[in-house]
Amino acid sequence: MKLKGWGTPWEWERSKEVVVFTVDNKANKGKSVVIKDLEGVLKEFSIQIRVIDGNSKYGENVALVQTLLKNSVKADEIYYDKFEEEIRKARKEGQLPYGLVVLVDKDKYKFYHPSWQKEPAIYGVGISDGVVIMRHTHREAVRHEFGHMLGLRIHHEGCVMDYTCIAPTFCSQCKRQIKEIWQEEIVAGNLVFPS
Ligand SMILES: [Zn+2]
Ligand SMILES: [Zn+2]
Repeated sequence: MKLKGWGTPWEWERSKEVVVFTVDNKANKGKSVVIKDLEGVLKEFSIQIRVIDGNSKYGENVALVQTLLKNSVKADEIYYDKFEEEIRKARKEGQLPYGLVVLVDKDKYKFYHPSWQKEPAIYGVGISDGVVIMRHTHREAVRHEFGHMLGLRIHHEGCVMDYTCIAPTFCSQCKRQIKEIWQEEIVAGNLVFPS
């Protein structure tokens, strides 16, 4: 990891794990597909990070994720700034040290957005600090939010990083940027995970 952005170091990549949680039964259905889509992105760039089903492997953390989400919801609206803040606090205490992807029921939650916000979150939200929340889990949206987690910041047309999440592929500029950010993990190649 070379480029940290925003002046704050990312801690999550040290775990070499992205962990996917569902917090209700309904979101559970799409989880295996999301895991495959996330693995697809990592494979595309040969990034040596593994994707894990959090409910099975880190079952003891499900209640914590649920609580942090609950603390960030008002009238069925997710205040994701608050959620990120809650995650940061938990991490300071040594909890949830990995890349965190949370799938929520889209019929149960919306994202809160202030009126000045030009591009309100609909499908999901992702930040490079290692947090993604998804309402919709179609492939383009998963790749888009994961792109943010991997360090892509700017929305632009002709790319999966378009705000509307129409195109499935990363443009050449984004590909270059991901390779640059993750060059250590790509070049090292000394971590081999069982499939
Ligand atoms: Zn975006
Ligand atoms: Zn792009």
